[in-house]
Amino acid sequence: MLNYDVIIVGSGAGGVFMAYEFTKINKNIKVCIIDRGGPIGKRICPIDGKKITSCIHCKTCSIMNGFGGAGGMSDGKYNITNNFGGDLYTHTGKELAIELMEYVDKVNLEMGGGDAKLYSTVTSDIKAEALKYDLHLLDAKVRHLGTDRNRQILQNIYDYVKESVDIHFYEEVSSIEKNDGRFSVETDKDTYTASQVVIAAGRSGSKWISGICEKFGIETKSNRVDIGVRVEIPAAVFEHITSKVYESKIVYRTKKYGDLVRTFCMNPYGEVVNENTNGIITVNGHSYSDPKYHTENTNFALLVSNTFSEPFKDSNLYGESIARLSNMLGGGVLVQRFGDLVAGRRTNDHRFSQCFLTPTLKATPGDLSLVIPKRQLDDIIEMIYALDKIAPGMANDDTLLYGVEVKFYNSKILVDENLETSVKGLYVIGDGSGVTHSLSQASASGVYVARLISDLY
Ligand SMILES: Cc1cc2nc3c(=O)[nH]c(=O)nc-3n(C[C@H](O)[C@H](O)[C@H](O)COP(=O)(O)OP(=O)(O)OC[C@H]3O[C@@H](n4cnc5c(N)ncnc54)[C@H](O)[C@@H]3O)c2cc1C
Repeated sequence: MLNYDVIIVGSGAGGVFMAYEFTKINKNIKVCIIDRGGPIGKRICPIDGKKITSCIHCKTCSIMNGFGGAGGMSDGKYNITNNFGGDLYTHTGKELAIELMEYVDKVNLEMGGGDAKLYSTVTSDIKAEALKYDLHLLDAKVRHLGTDRNRQILQNIYDYVKESVDIHFYEEVSSIEKNDGRFSVETDKDTYTASQVVIAAGRSGSKWISGICEKFGIETKSNRVDIGVRVEIPAAVFEHITSKVYESKIVYRTKKYGDLVRTFCMNPYGEVVNENTNGIITVNGHSYSDPKYHTENTNFALLVSNTFSEPFKDSNLYGESIARLSNMLGGGVLVQRFGDLVAGRRTNDHRFSQCFLTPTLKATPGDLSLVIPKRQLDDIIEMIYALDKIAPGMANDDTLLYGVEVKFYNSKILVDENLETSVKGLYVIGDGSGVTHSLSQASASGVYVARLISDLY
């Protein structure tokens, strides 16, 4: 049995920045992190770069688990804004939320971010141009670290914190108990005790977190799920936008249904990749900062939000069911040419081989209309035509649509302004809380709670 003051479950963005802050504050608080994944250097997806389209379901998924969490293999786009990426500000206040995100940005730069460029929508003329077509560009600053630099920064943070924080890799936390004011945390290898436990288990820990909440009687509320596709186009089509703002969050209200569709996670010169959430394969994207790894394509998601209330409440289950359907038909991710989709035909191997665009992910050519419900698909098609007005070429026949992209949001866990649950000493931070859904805000929540806990000592 190992005894600590604070146990952090999960070494994703939230857990890493919490460990950083405890180390920085240096009050000799005994802290450990437990993660079911491994160190950043050992995180390698075994099918990456191989001619395999379907996931081989490793015991722990290297893309989602381990030091750096879901963001460890990402290209580290840190958006500094209260406009999207979560609503941490509803707990901290708007000013402090921005301050915390700026602090995280500063640490990233100190830890190897160096000259990574900061982009801003505020100074760009794209906003006015987009408005002409009812396309709304949200204000944000974004630092793009790049996949390669992001990994190095995480390694540097690990080297900094490891002297003062114990990090237990490849251990999965199964249960948390509270007896006589102290927590006991059980893993598949050991038992730990602490007076404070911080759950930072992210989206991949969503089911486990729900079980913990149920056990302690902590209230949760169903969140939304976003469904859509990942679009891949020649980088030249969006170059005039990405060179100025890098990642543009553009929102459009469709004429047909009045639904909001938005662009998300834009990766100029990037790659489309698989994502694994609880064994379901969906799609995502990233891009390197080093031009030698650049592709000729840009990718981004087009997403439609869905929230359910009665009698069905489980938004994530809805998203999972749609993703499972694509996994069933394609063995993983499906890919379709936009021209085939609007013509109502499947993209088969023959049509796919004649595509002018070279795909960056090996996916199964197929028919997304058999997977994505009509409403969301109509929304996406309408958005593609709208974007074609500011980025001609967007609606070309060879524009590739990978599906499905699903953004799962954890149930909103009832936490107070300190991100503490109704169980004293039990905190939930990052995406696992349903409060954040981005690297900046998850990291900021870790810094925030580390400071609050440090004040208790
Ligand atoms: C491919 C990809 C690209 C992305 N790109 C971006 C981006 O550019 N910008 C952006 O803002 N966001 C991006 N995101 C989202 C971003 O990664 C998340 O918002 C962020 O990582 C959330 O941090 P977190 O600490 O809350 O959780 P996570 O990063 O998910 O970390 C949770 C950790 O908890 C561990 N864990 C879970 N359950 C247990 C358990 N029971 N026992 C032990 N350990 C457990 C997991 O192994 C994991 O390491 C991306 C996500 C993916 C998958």
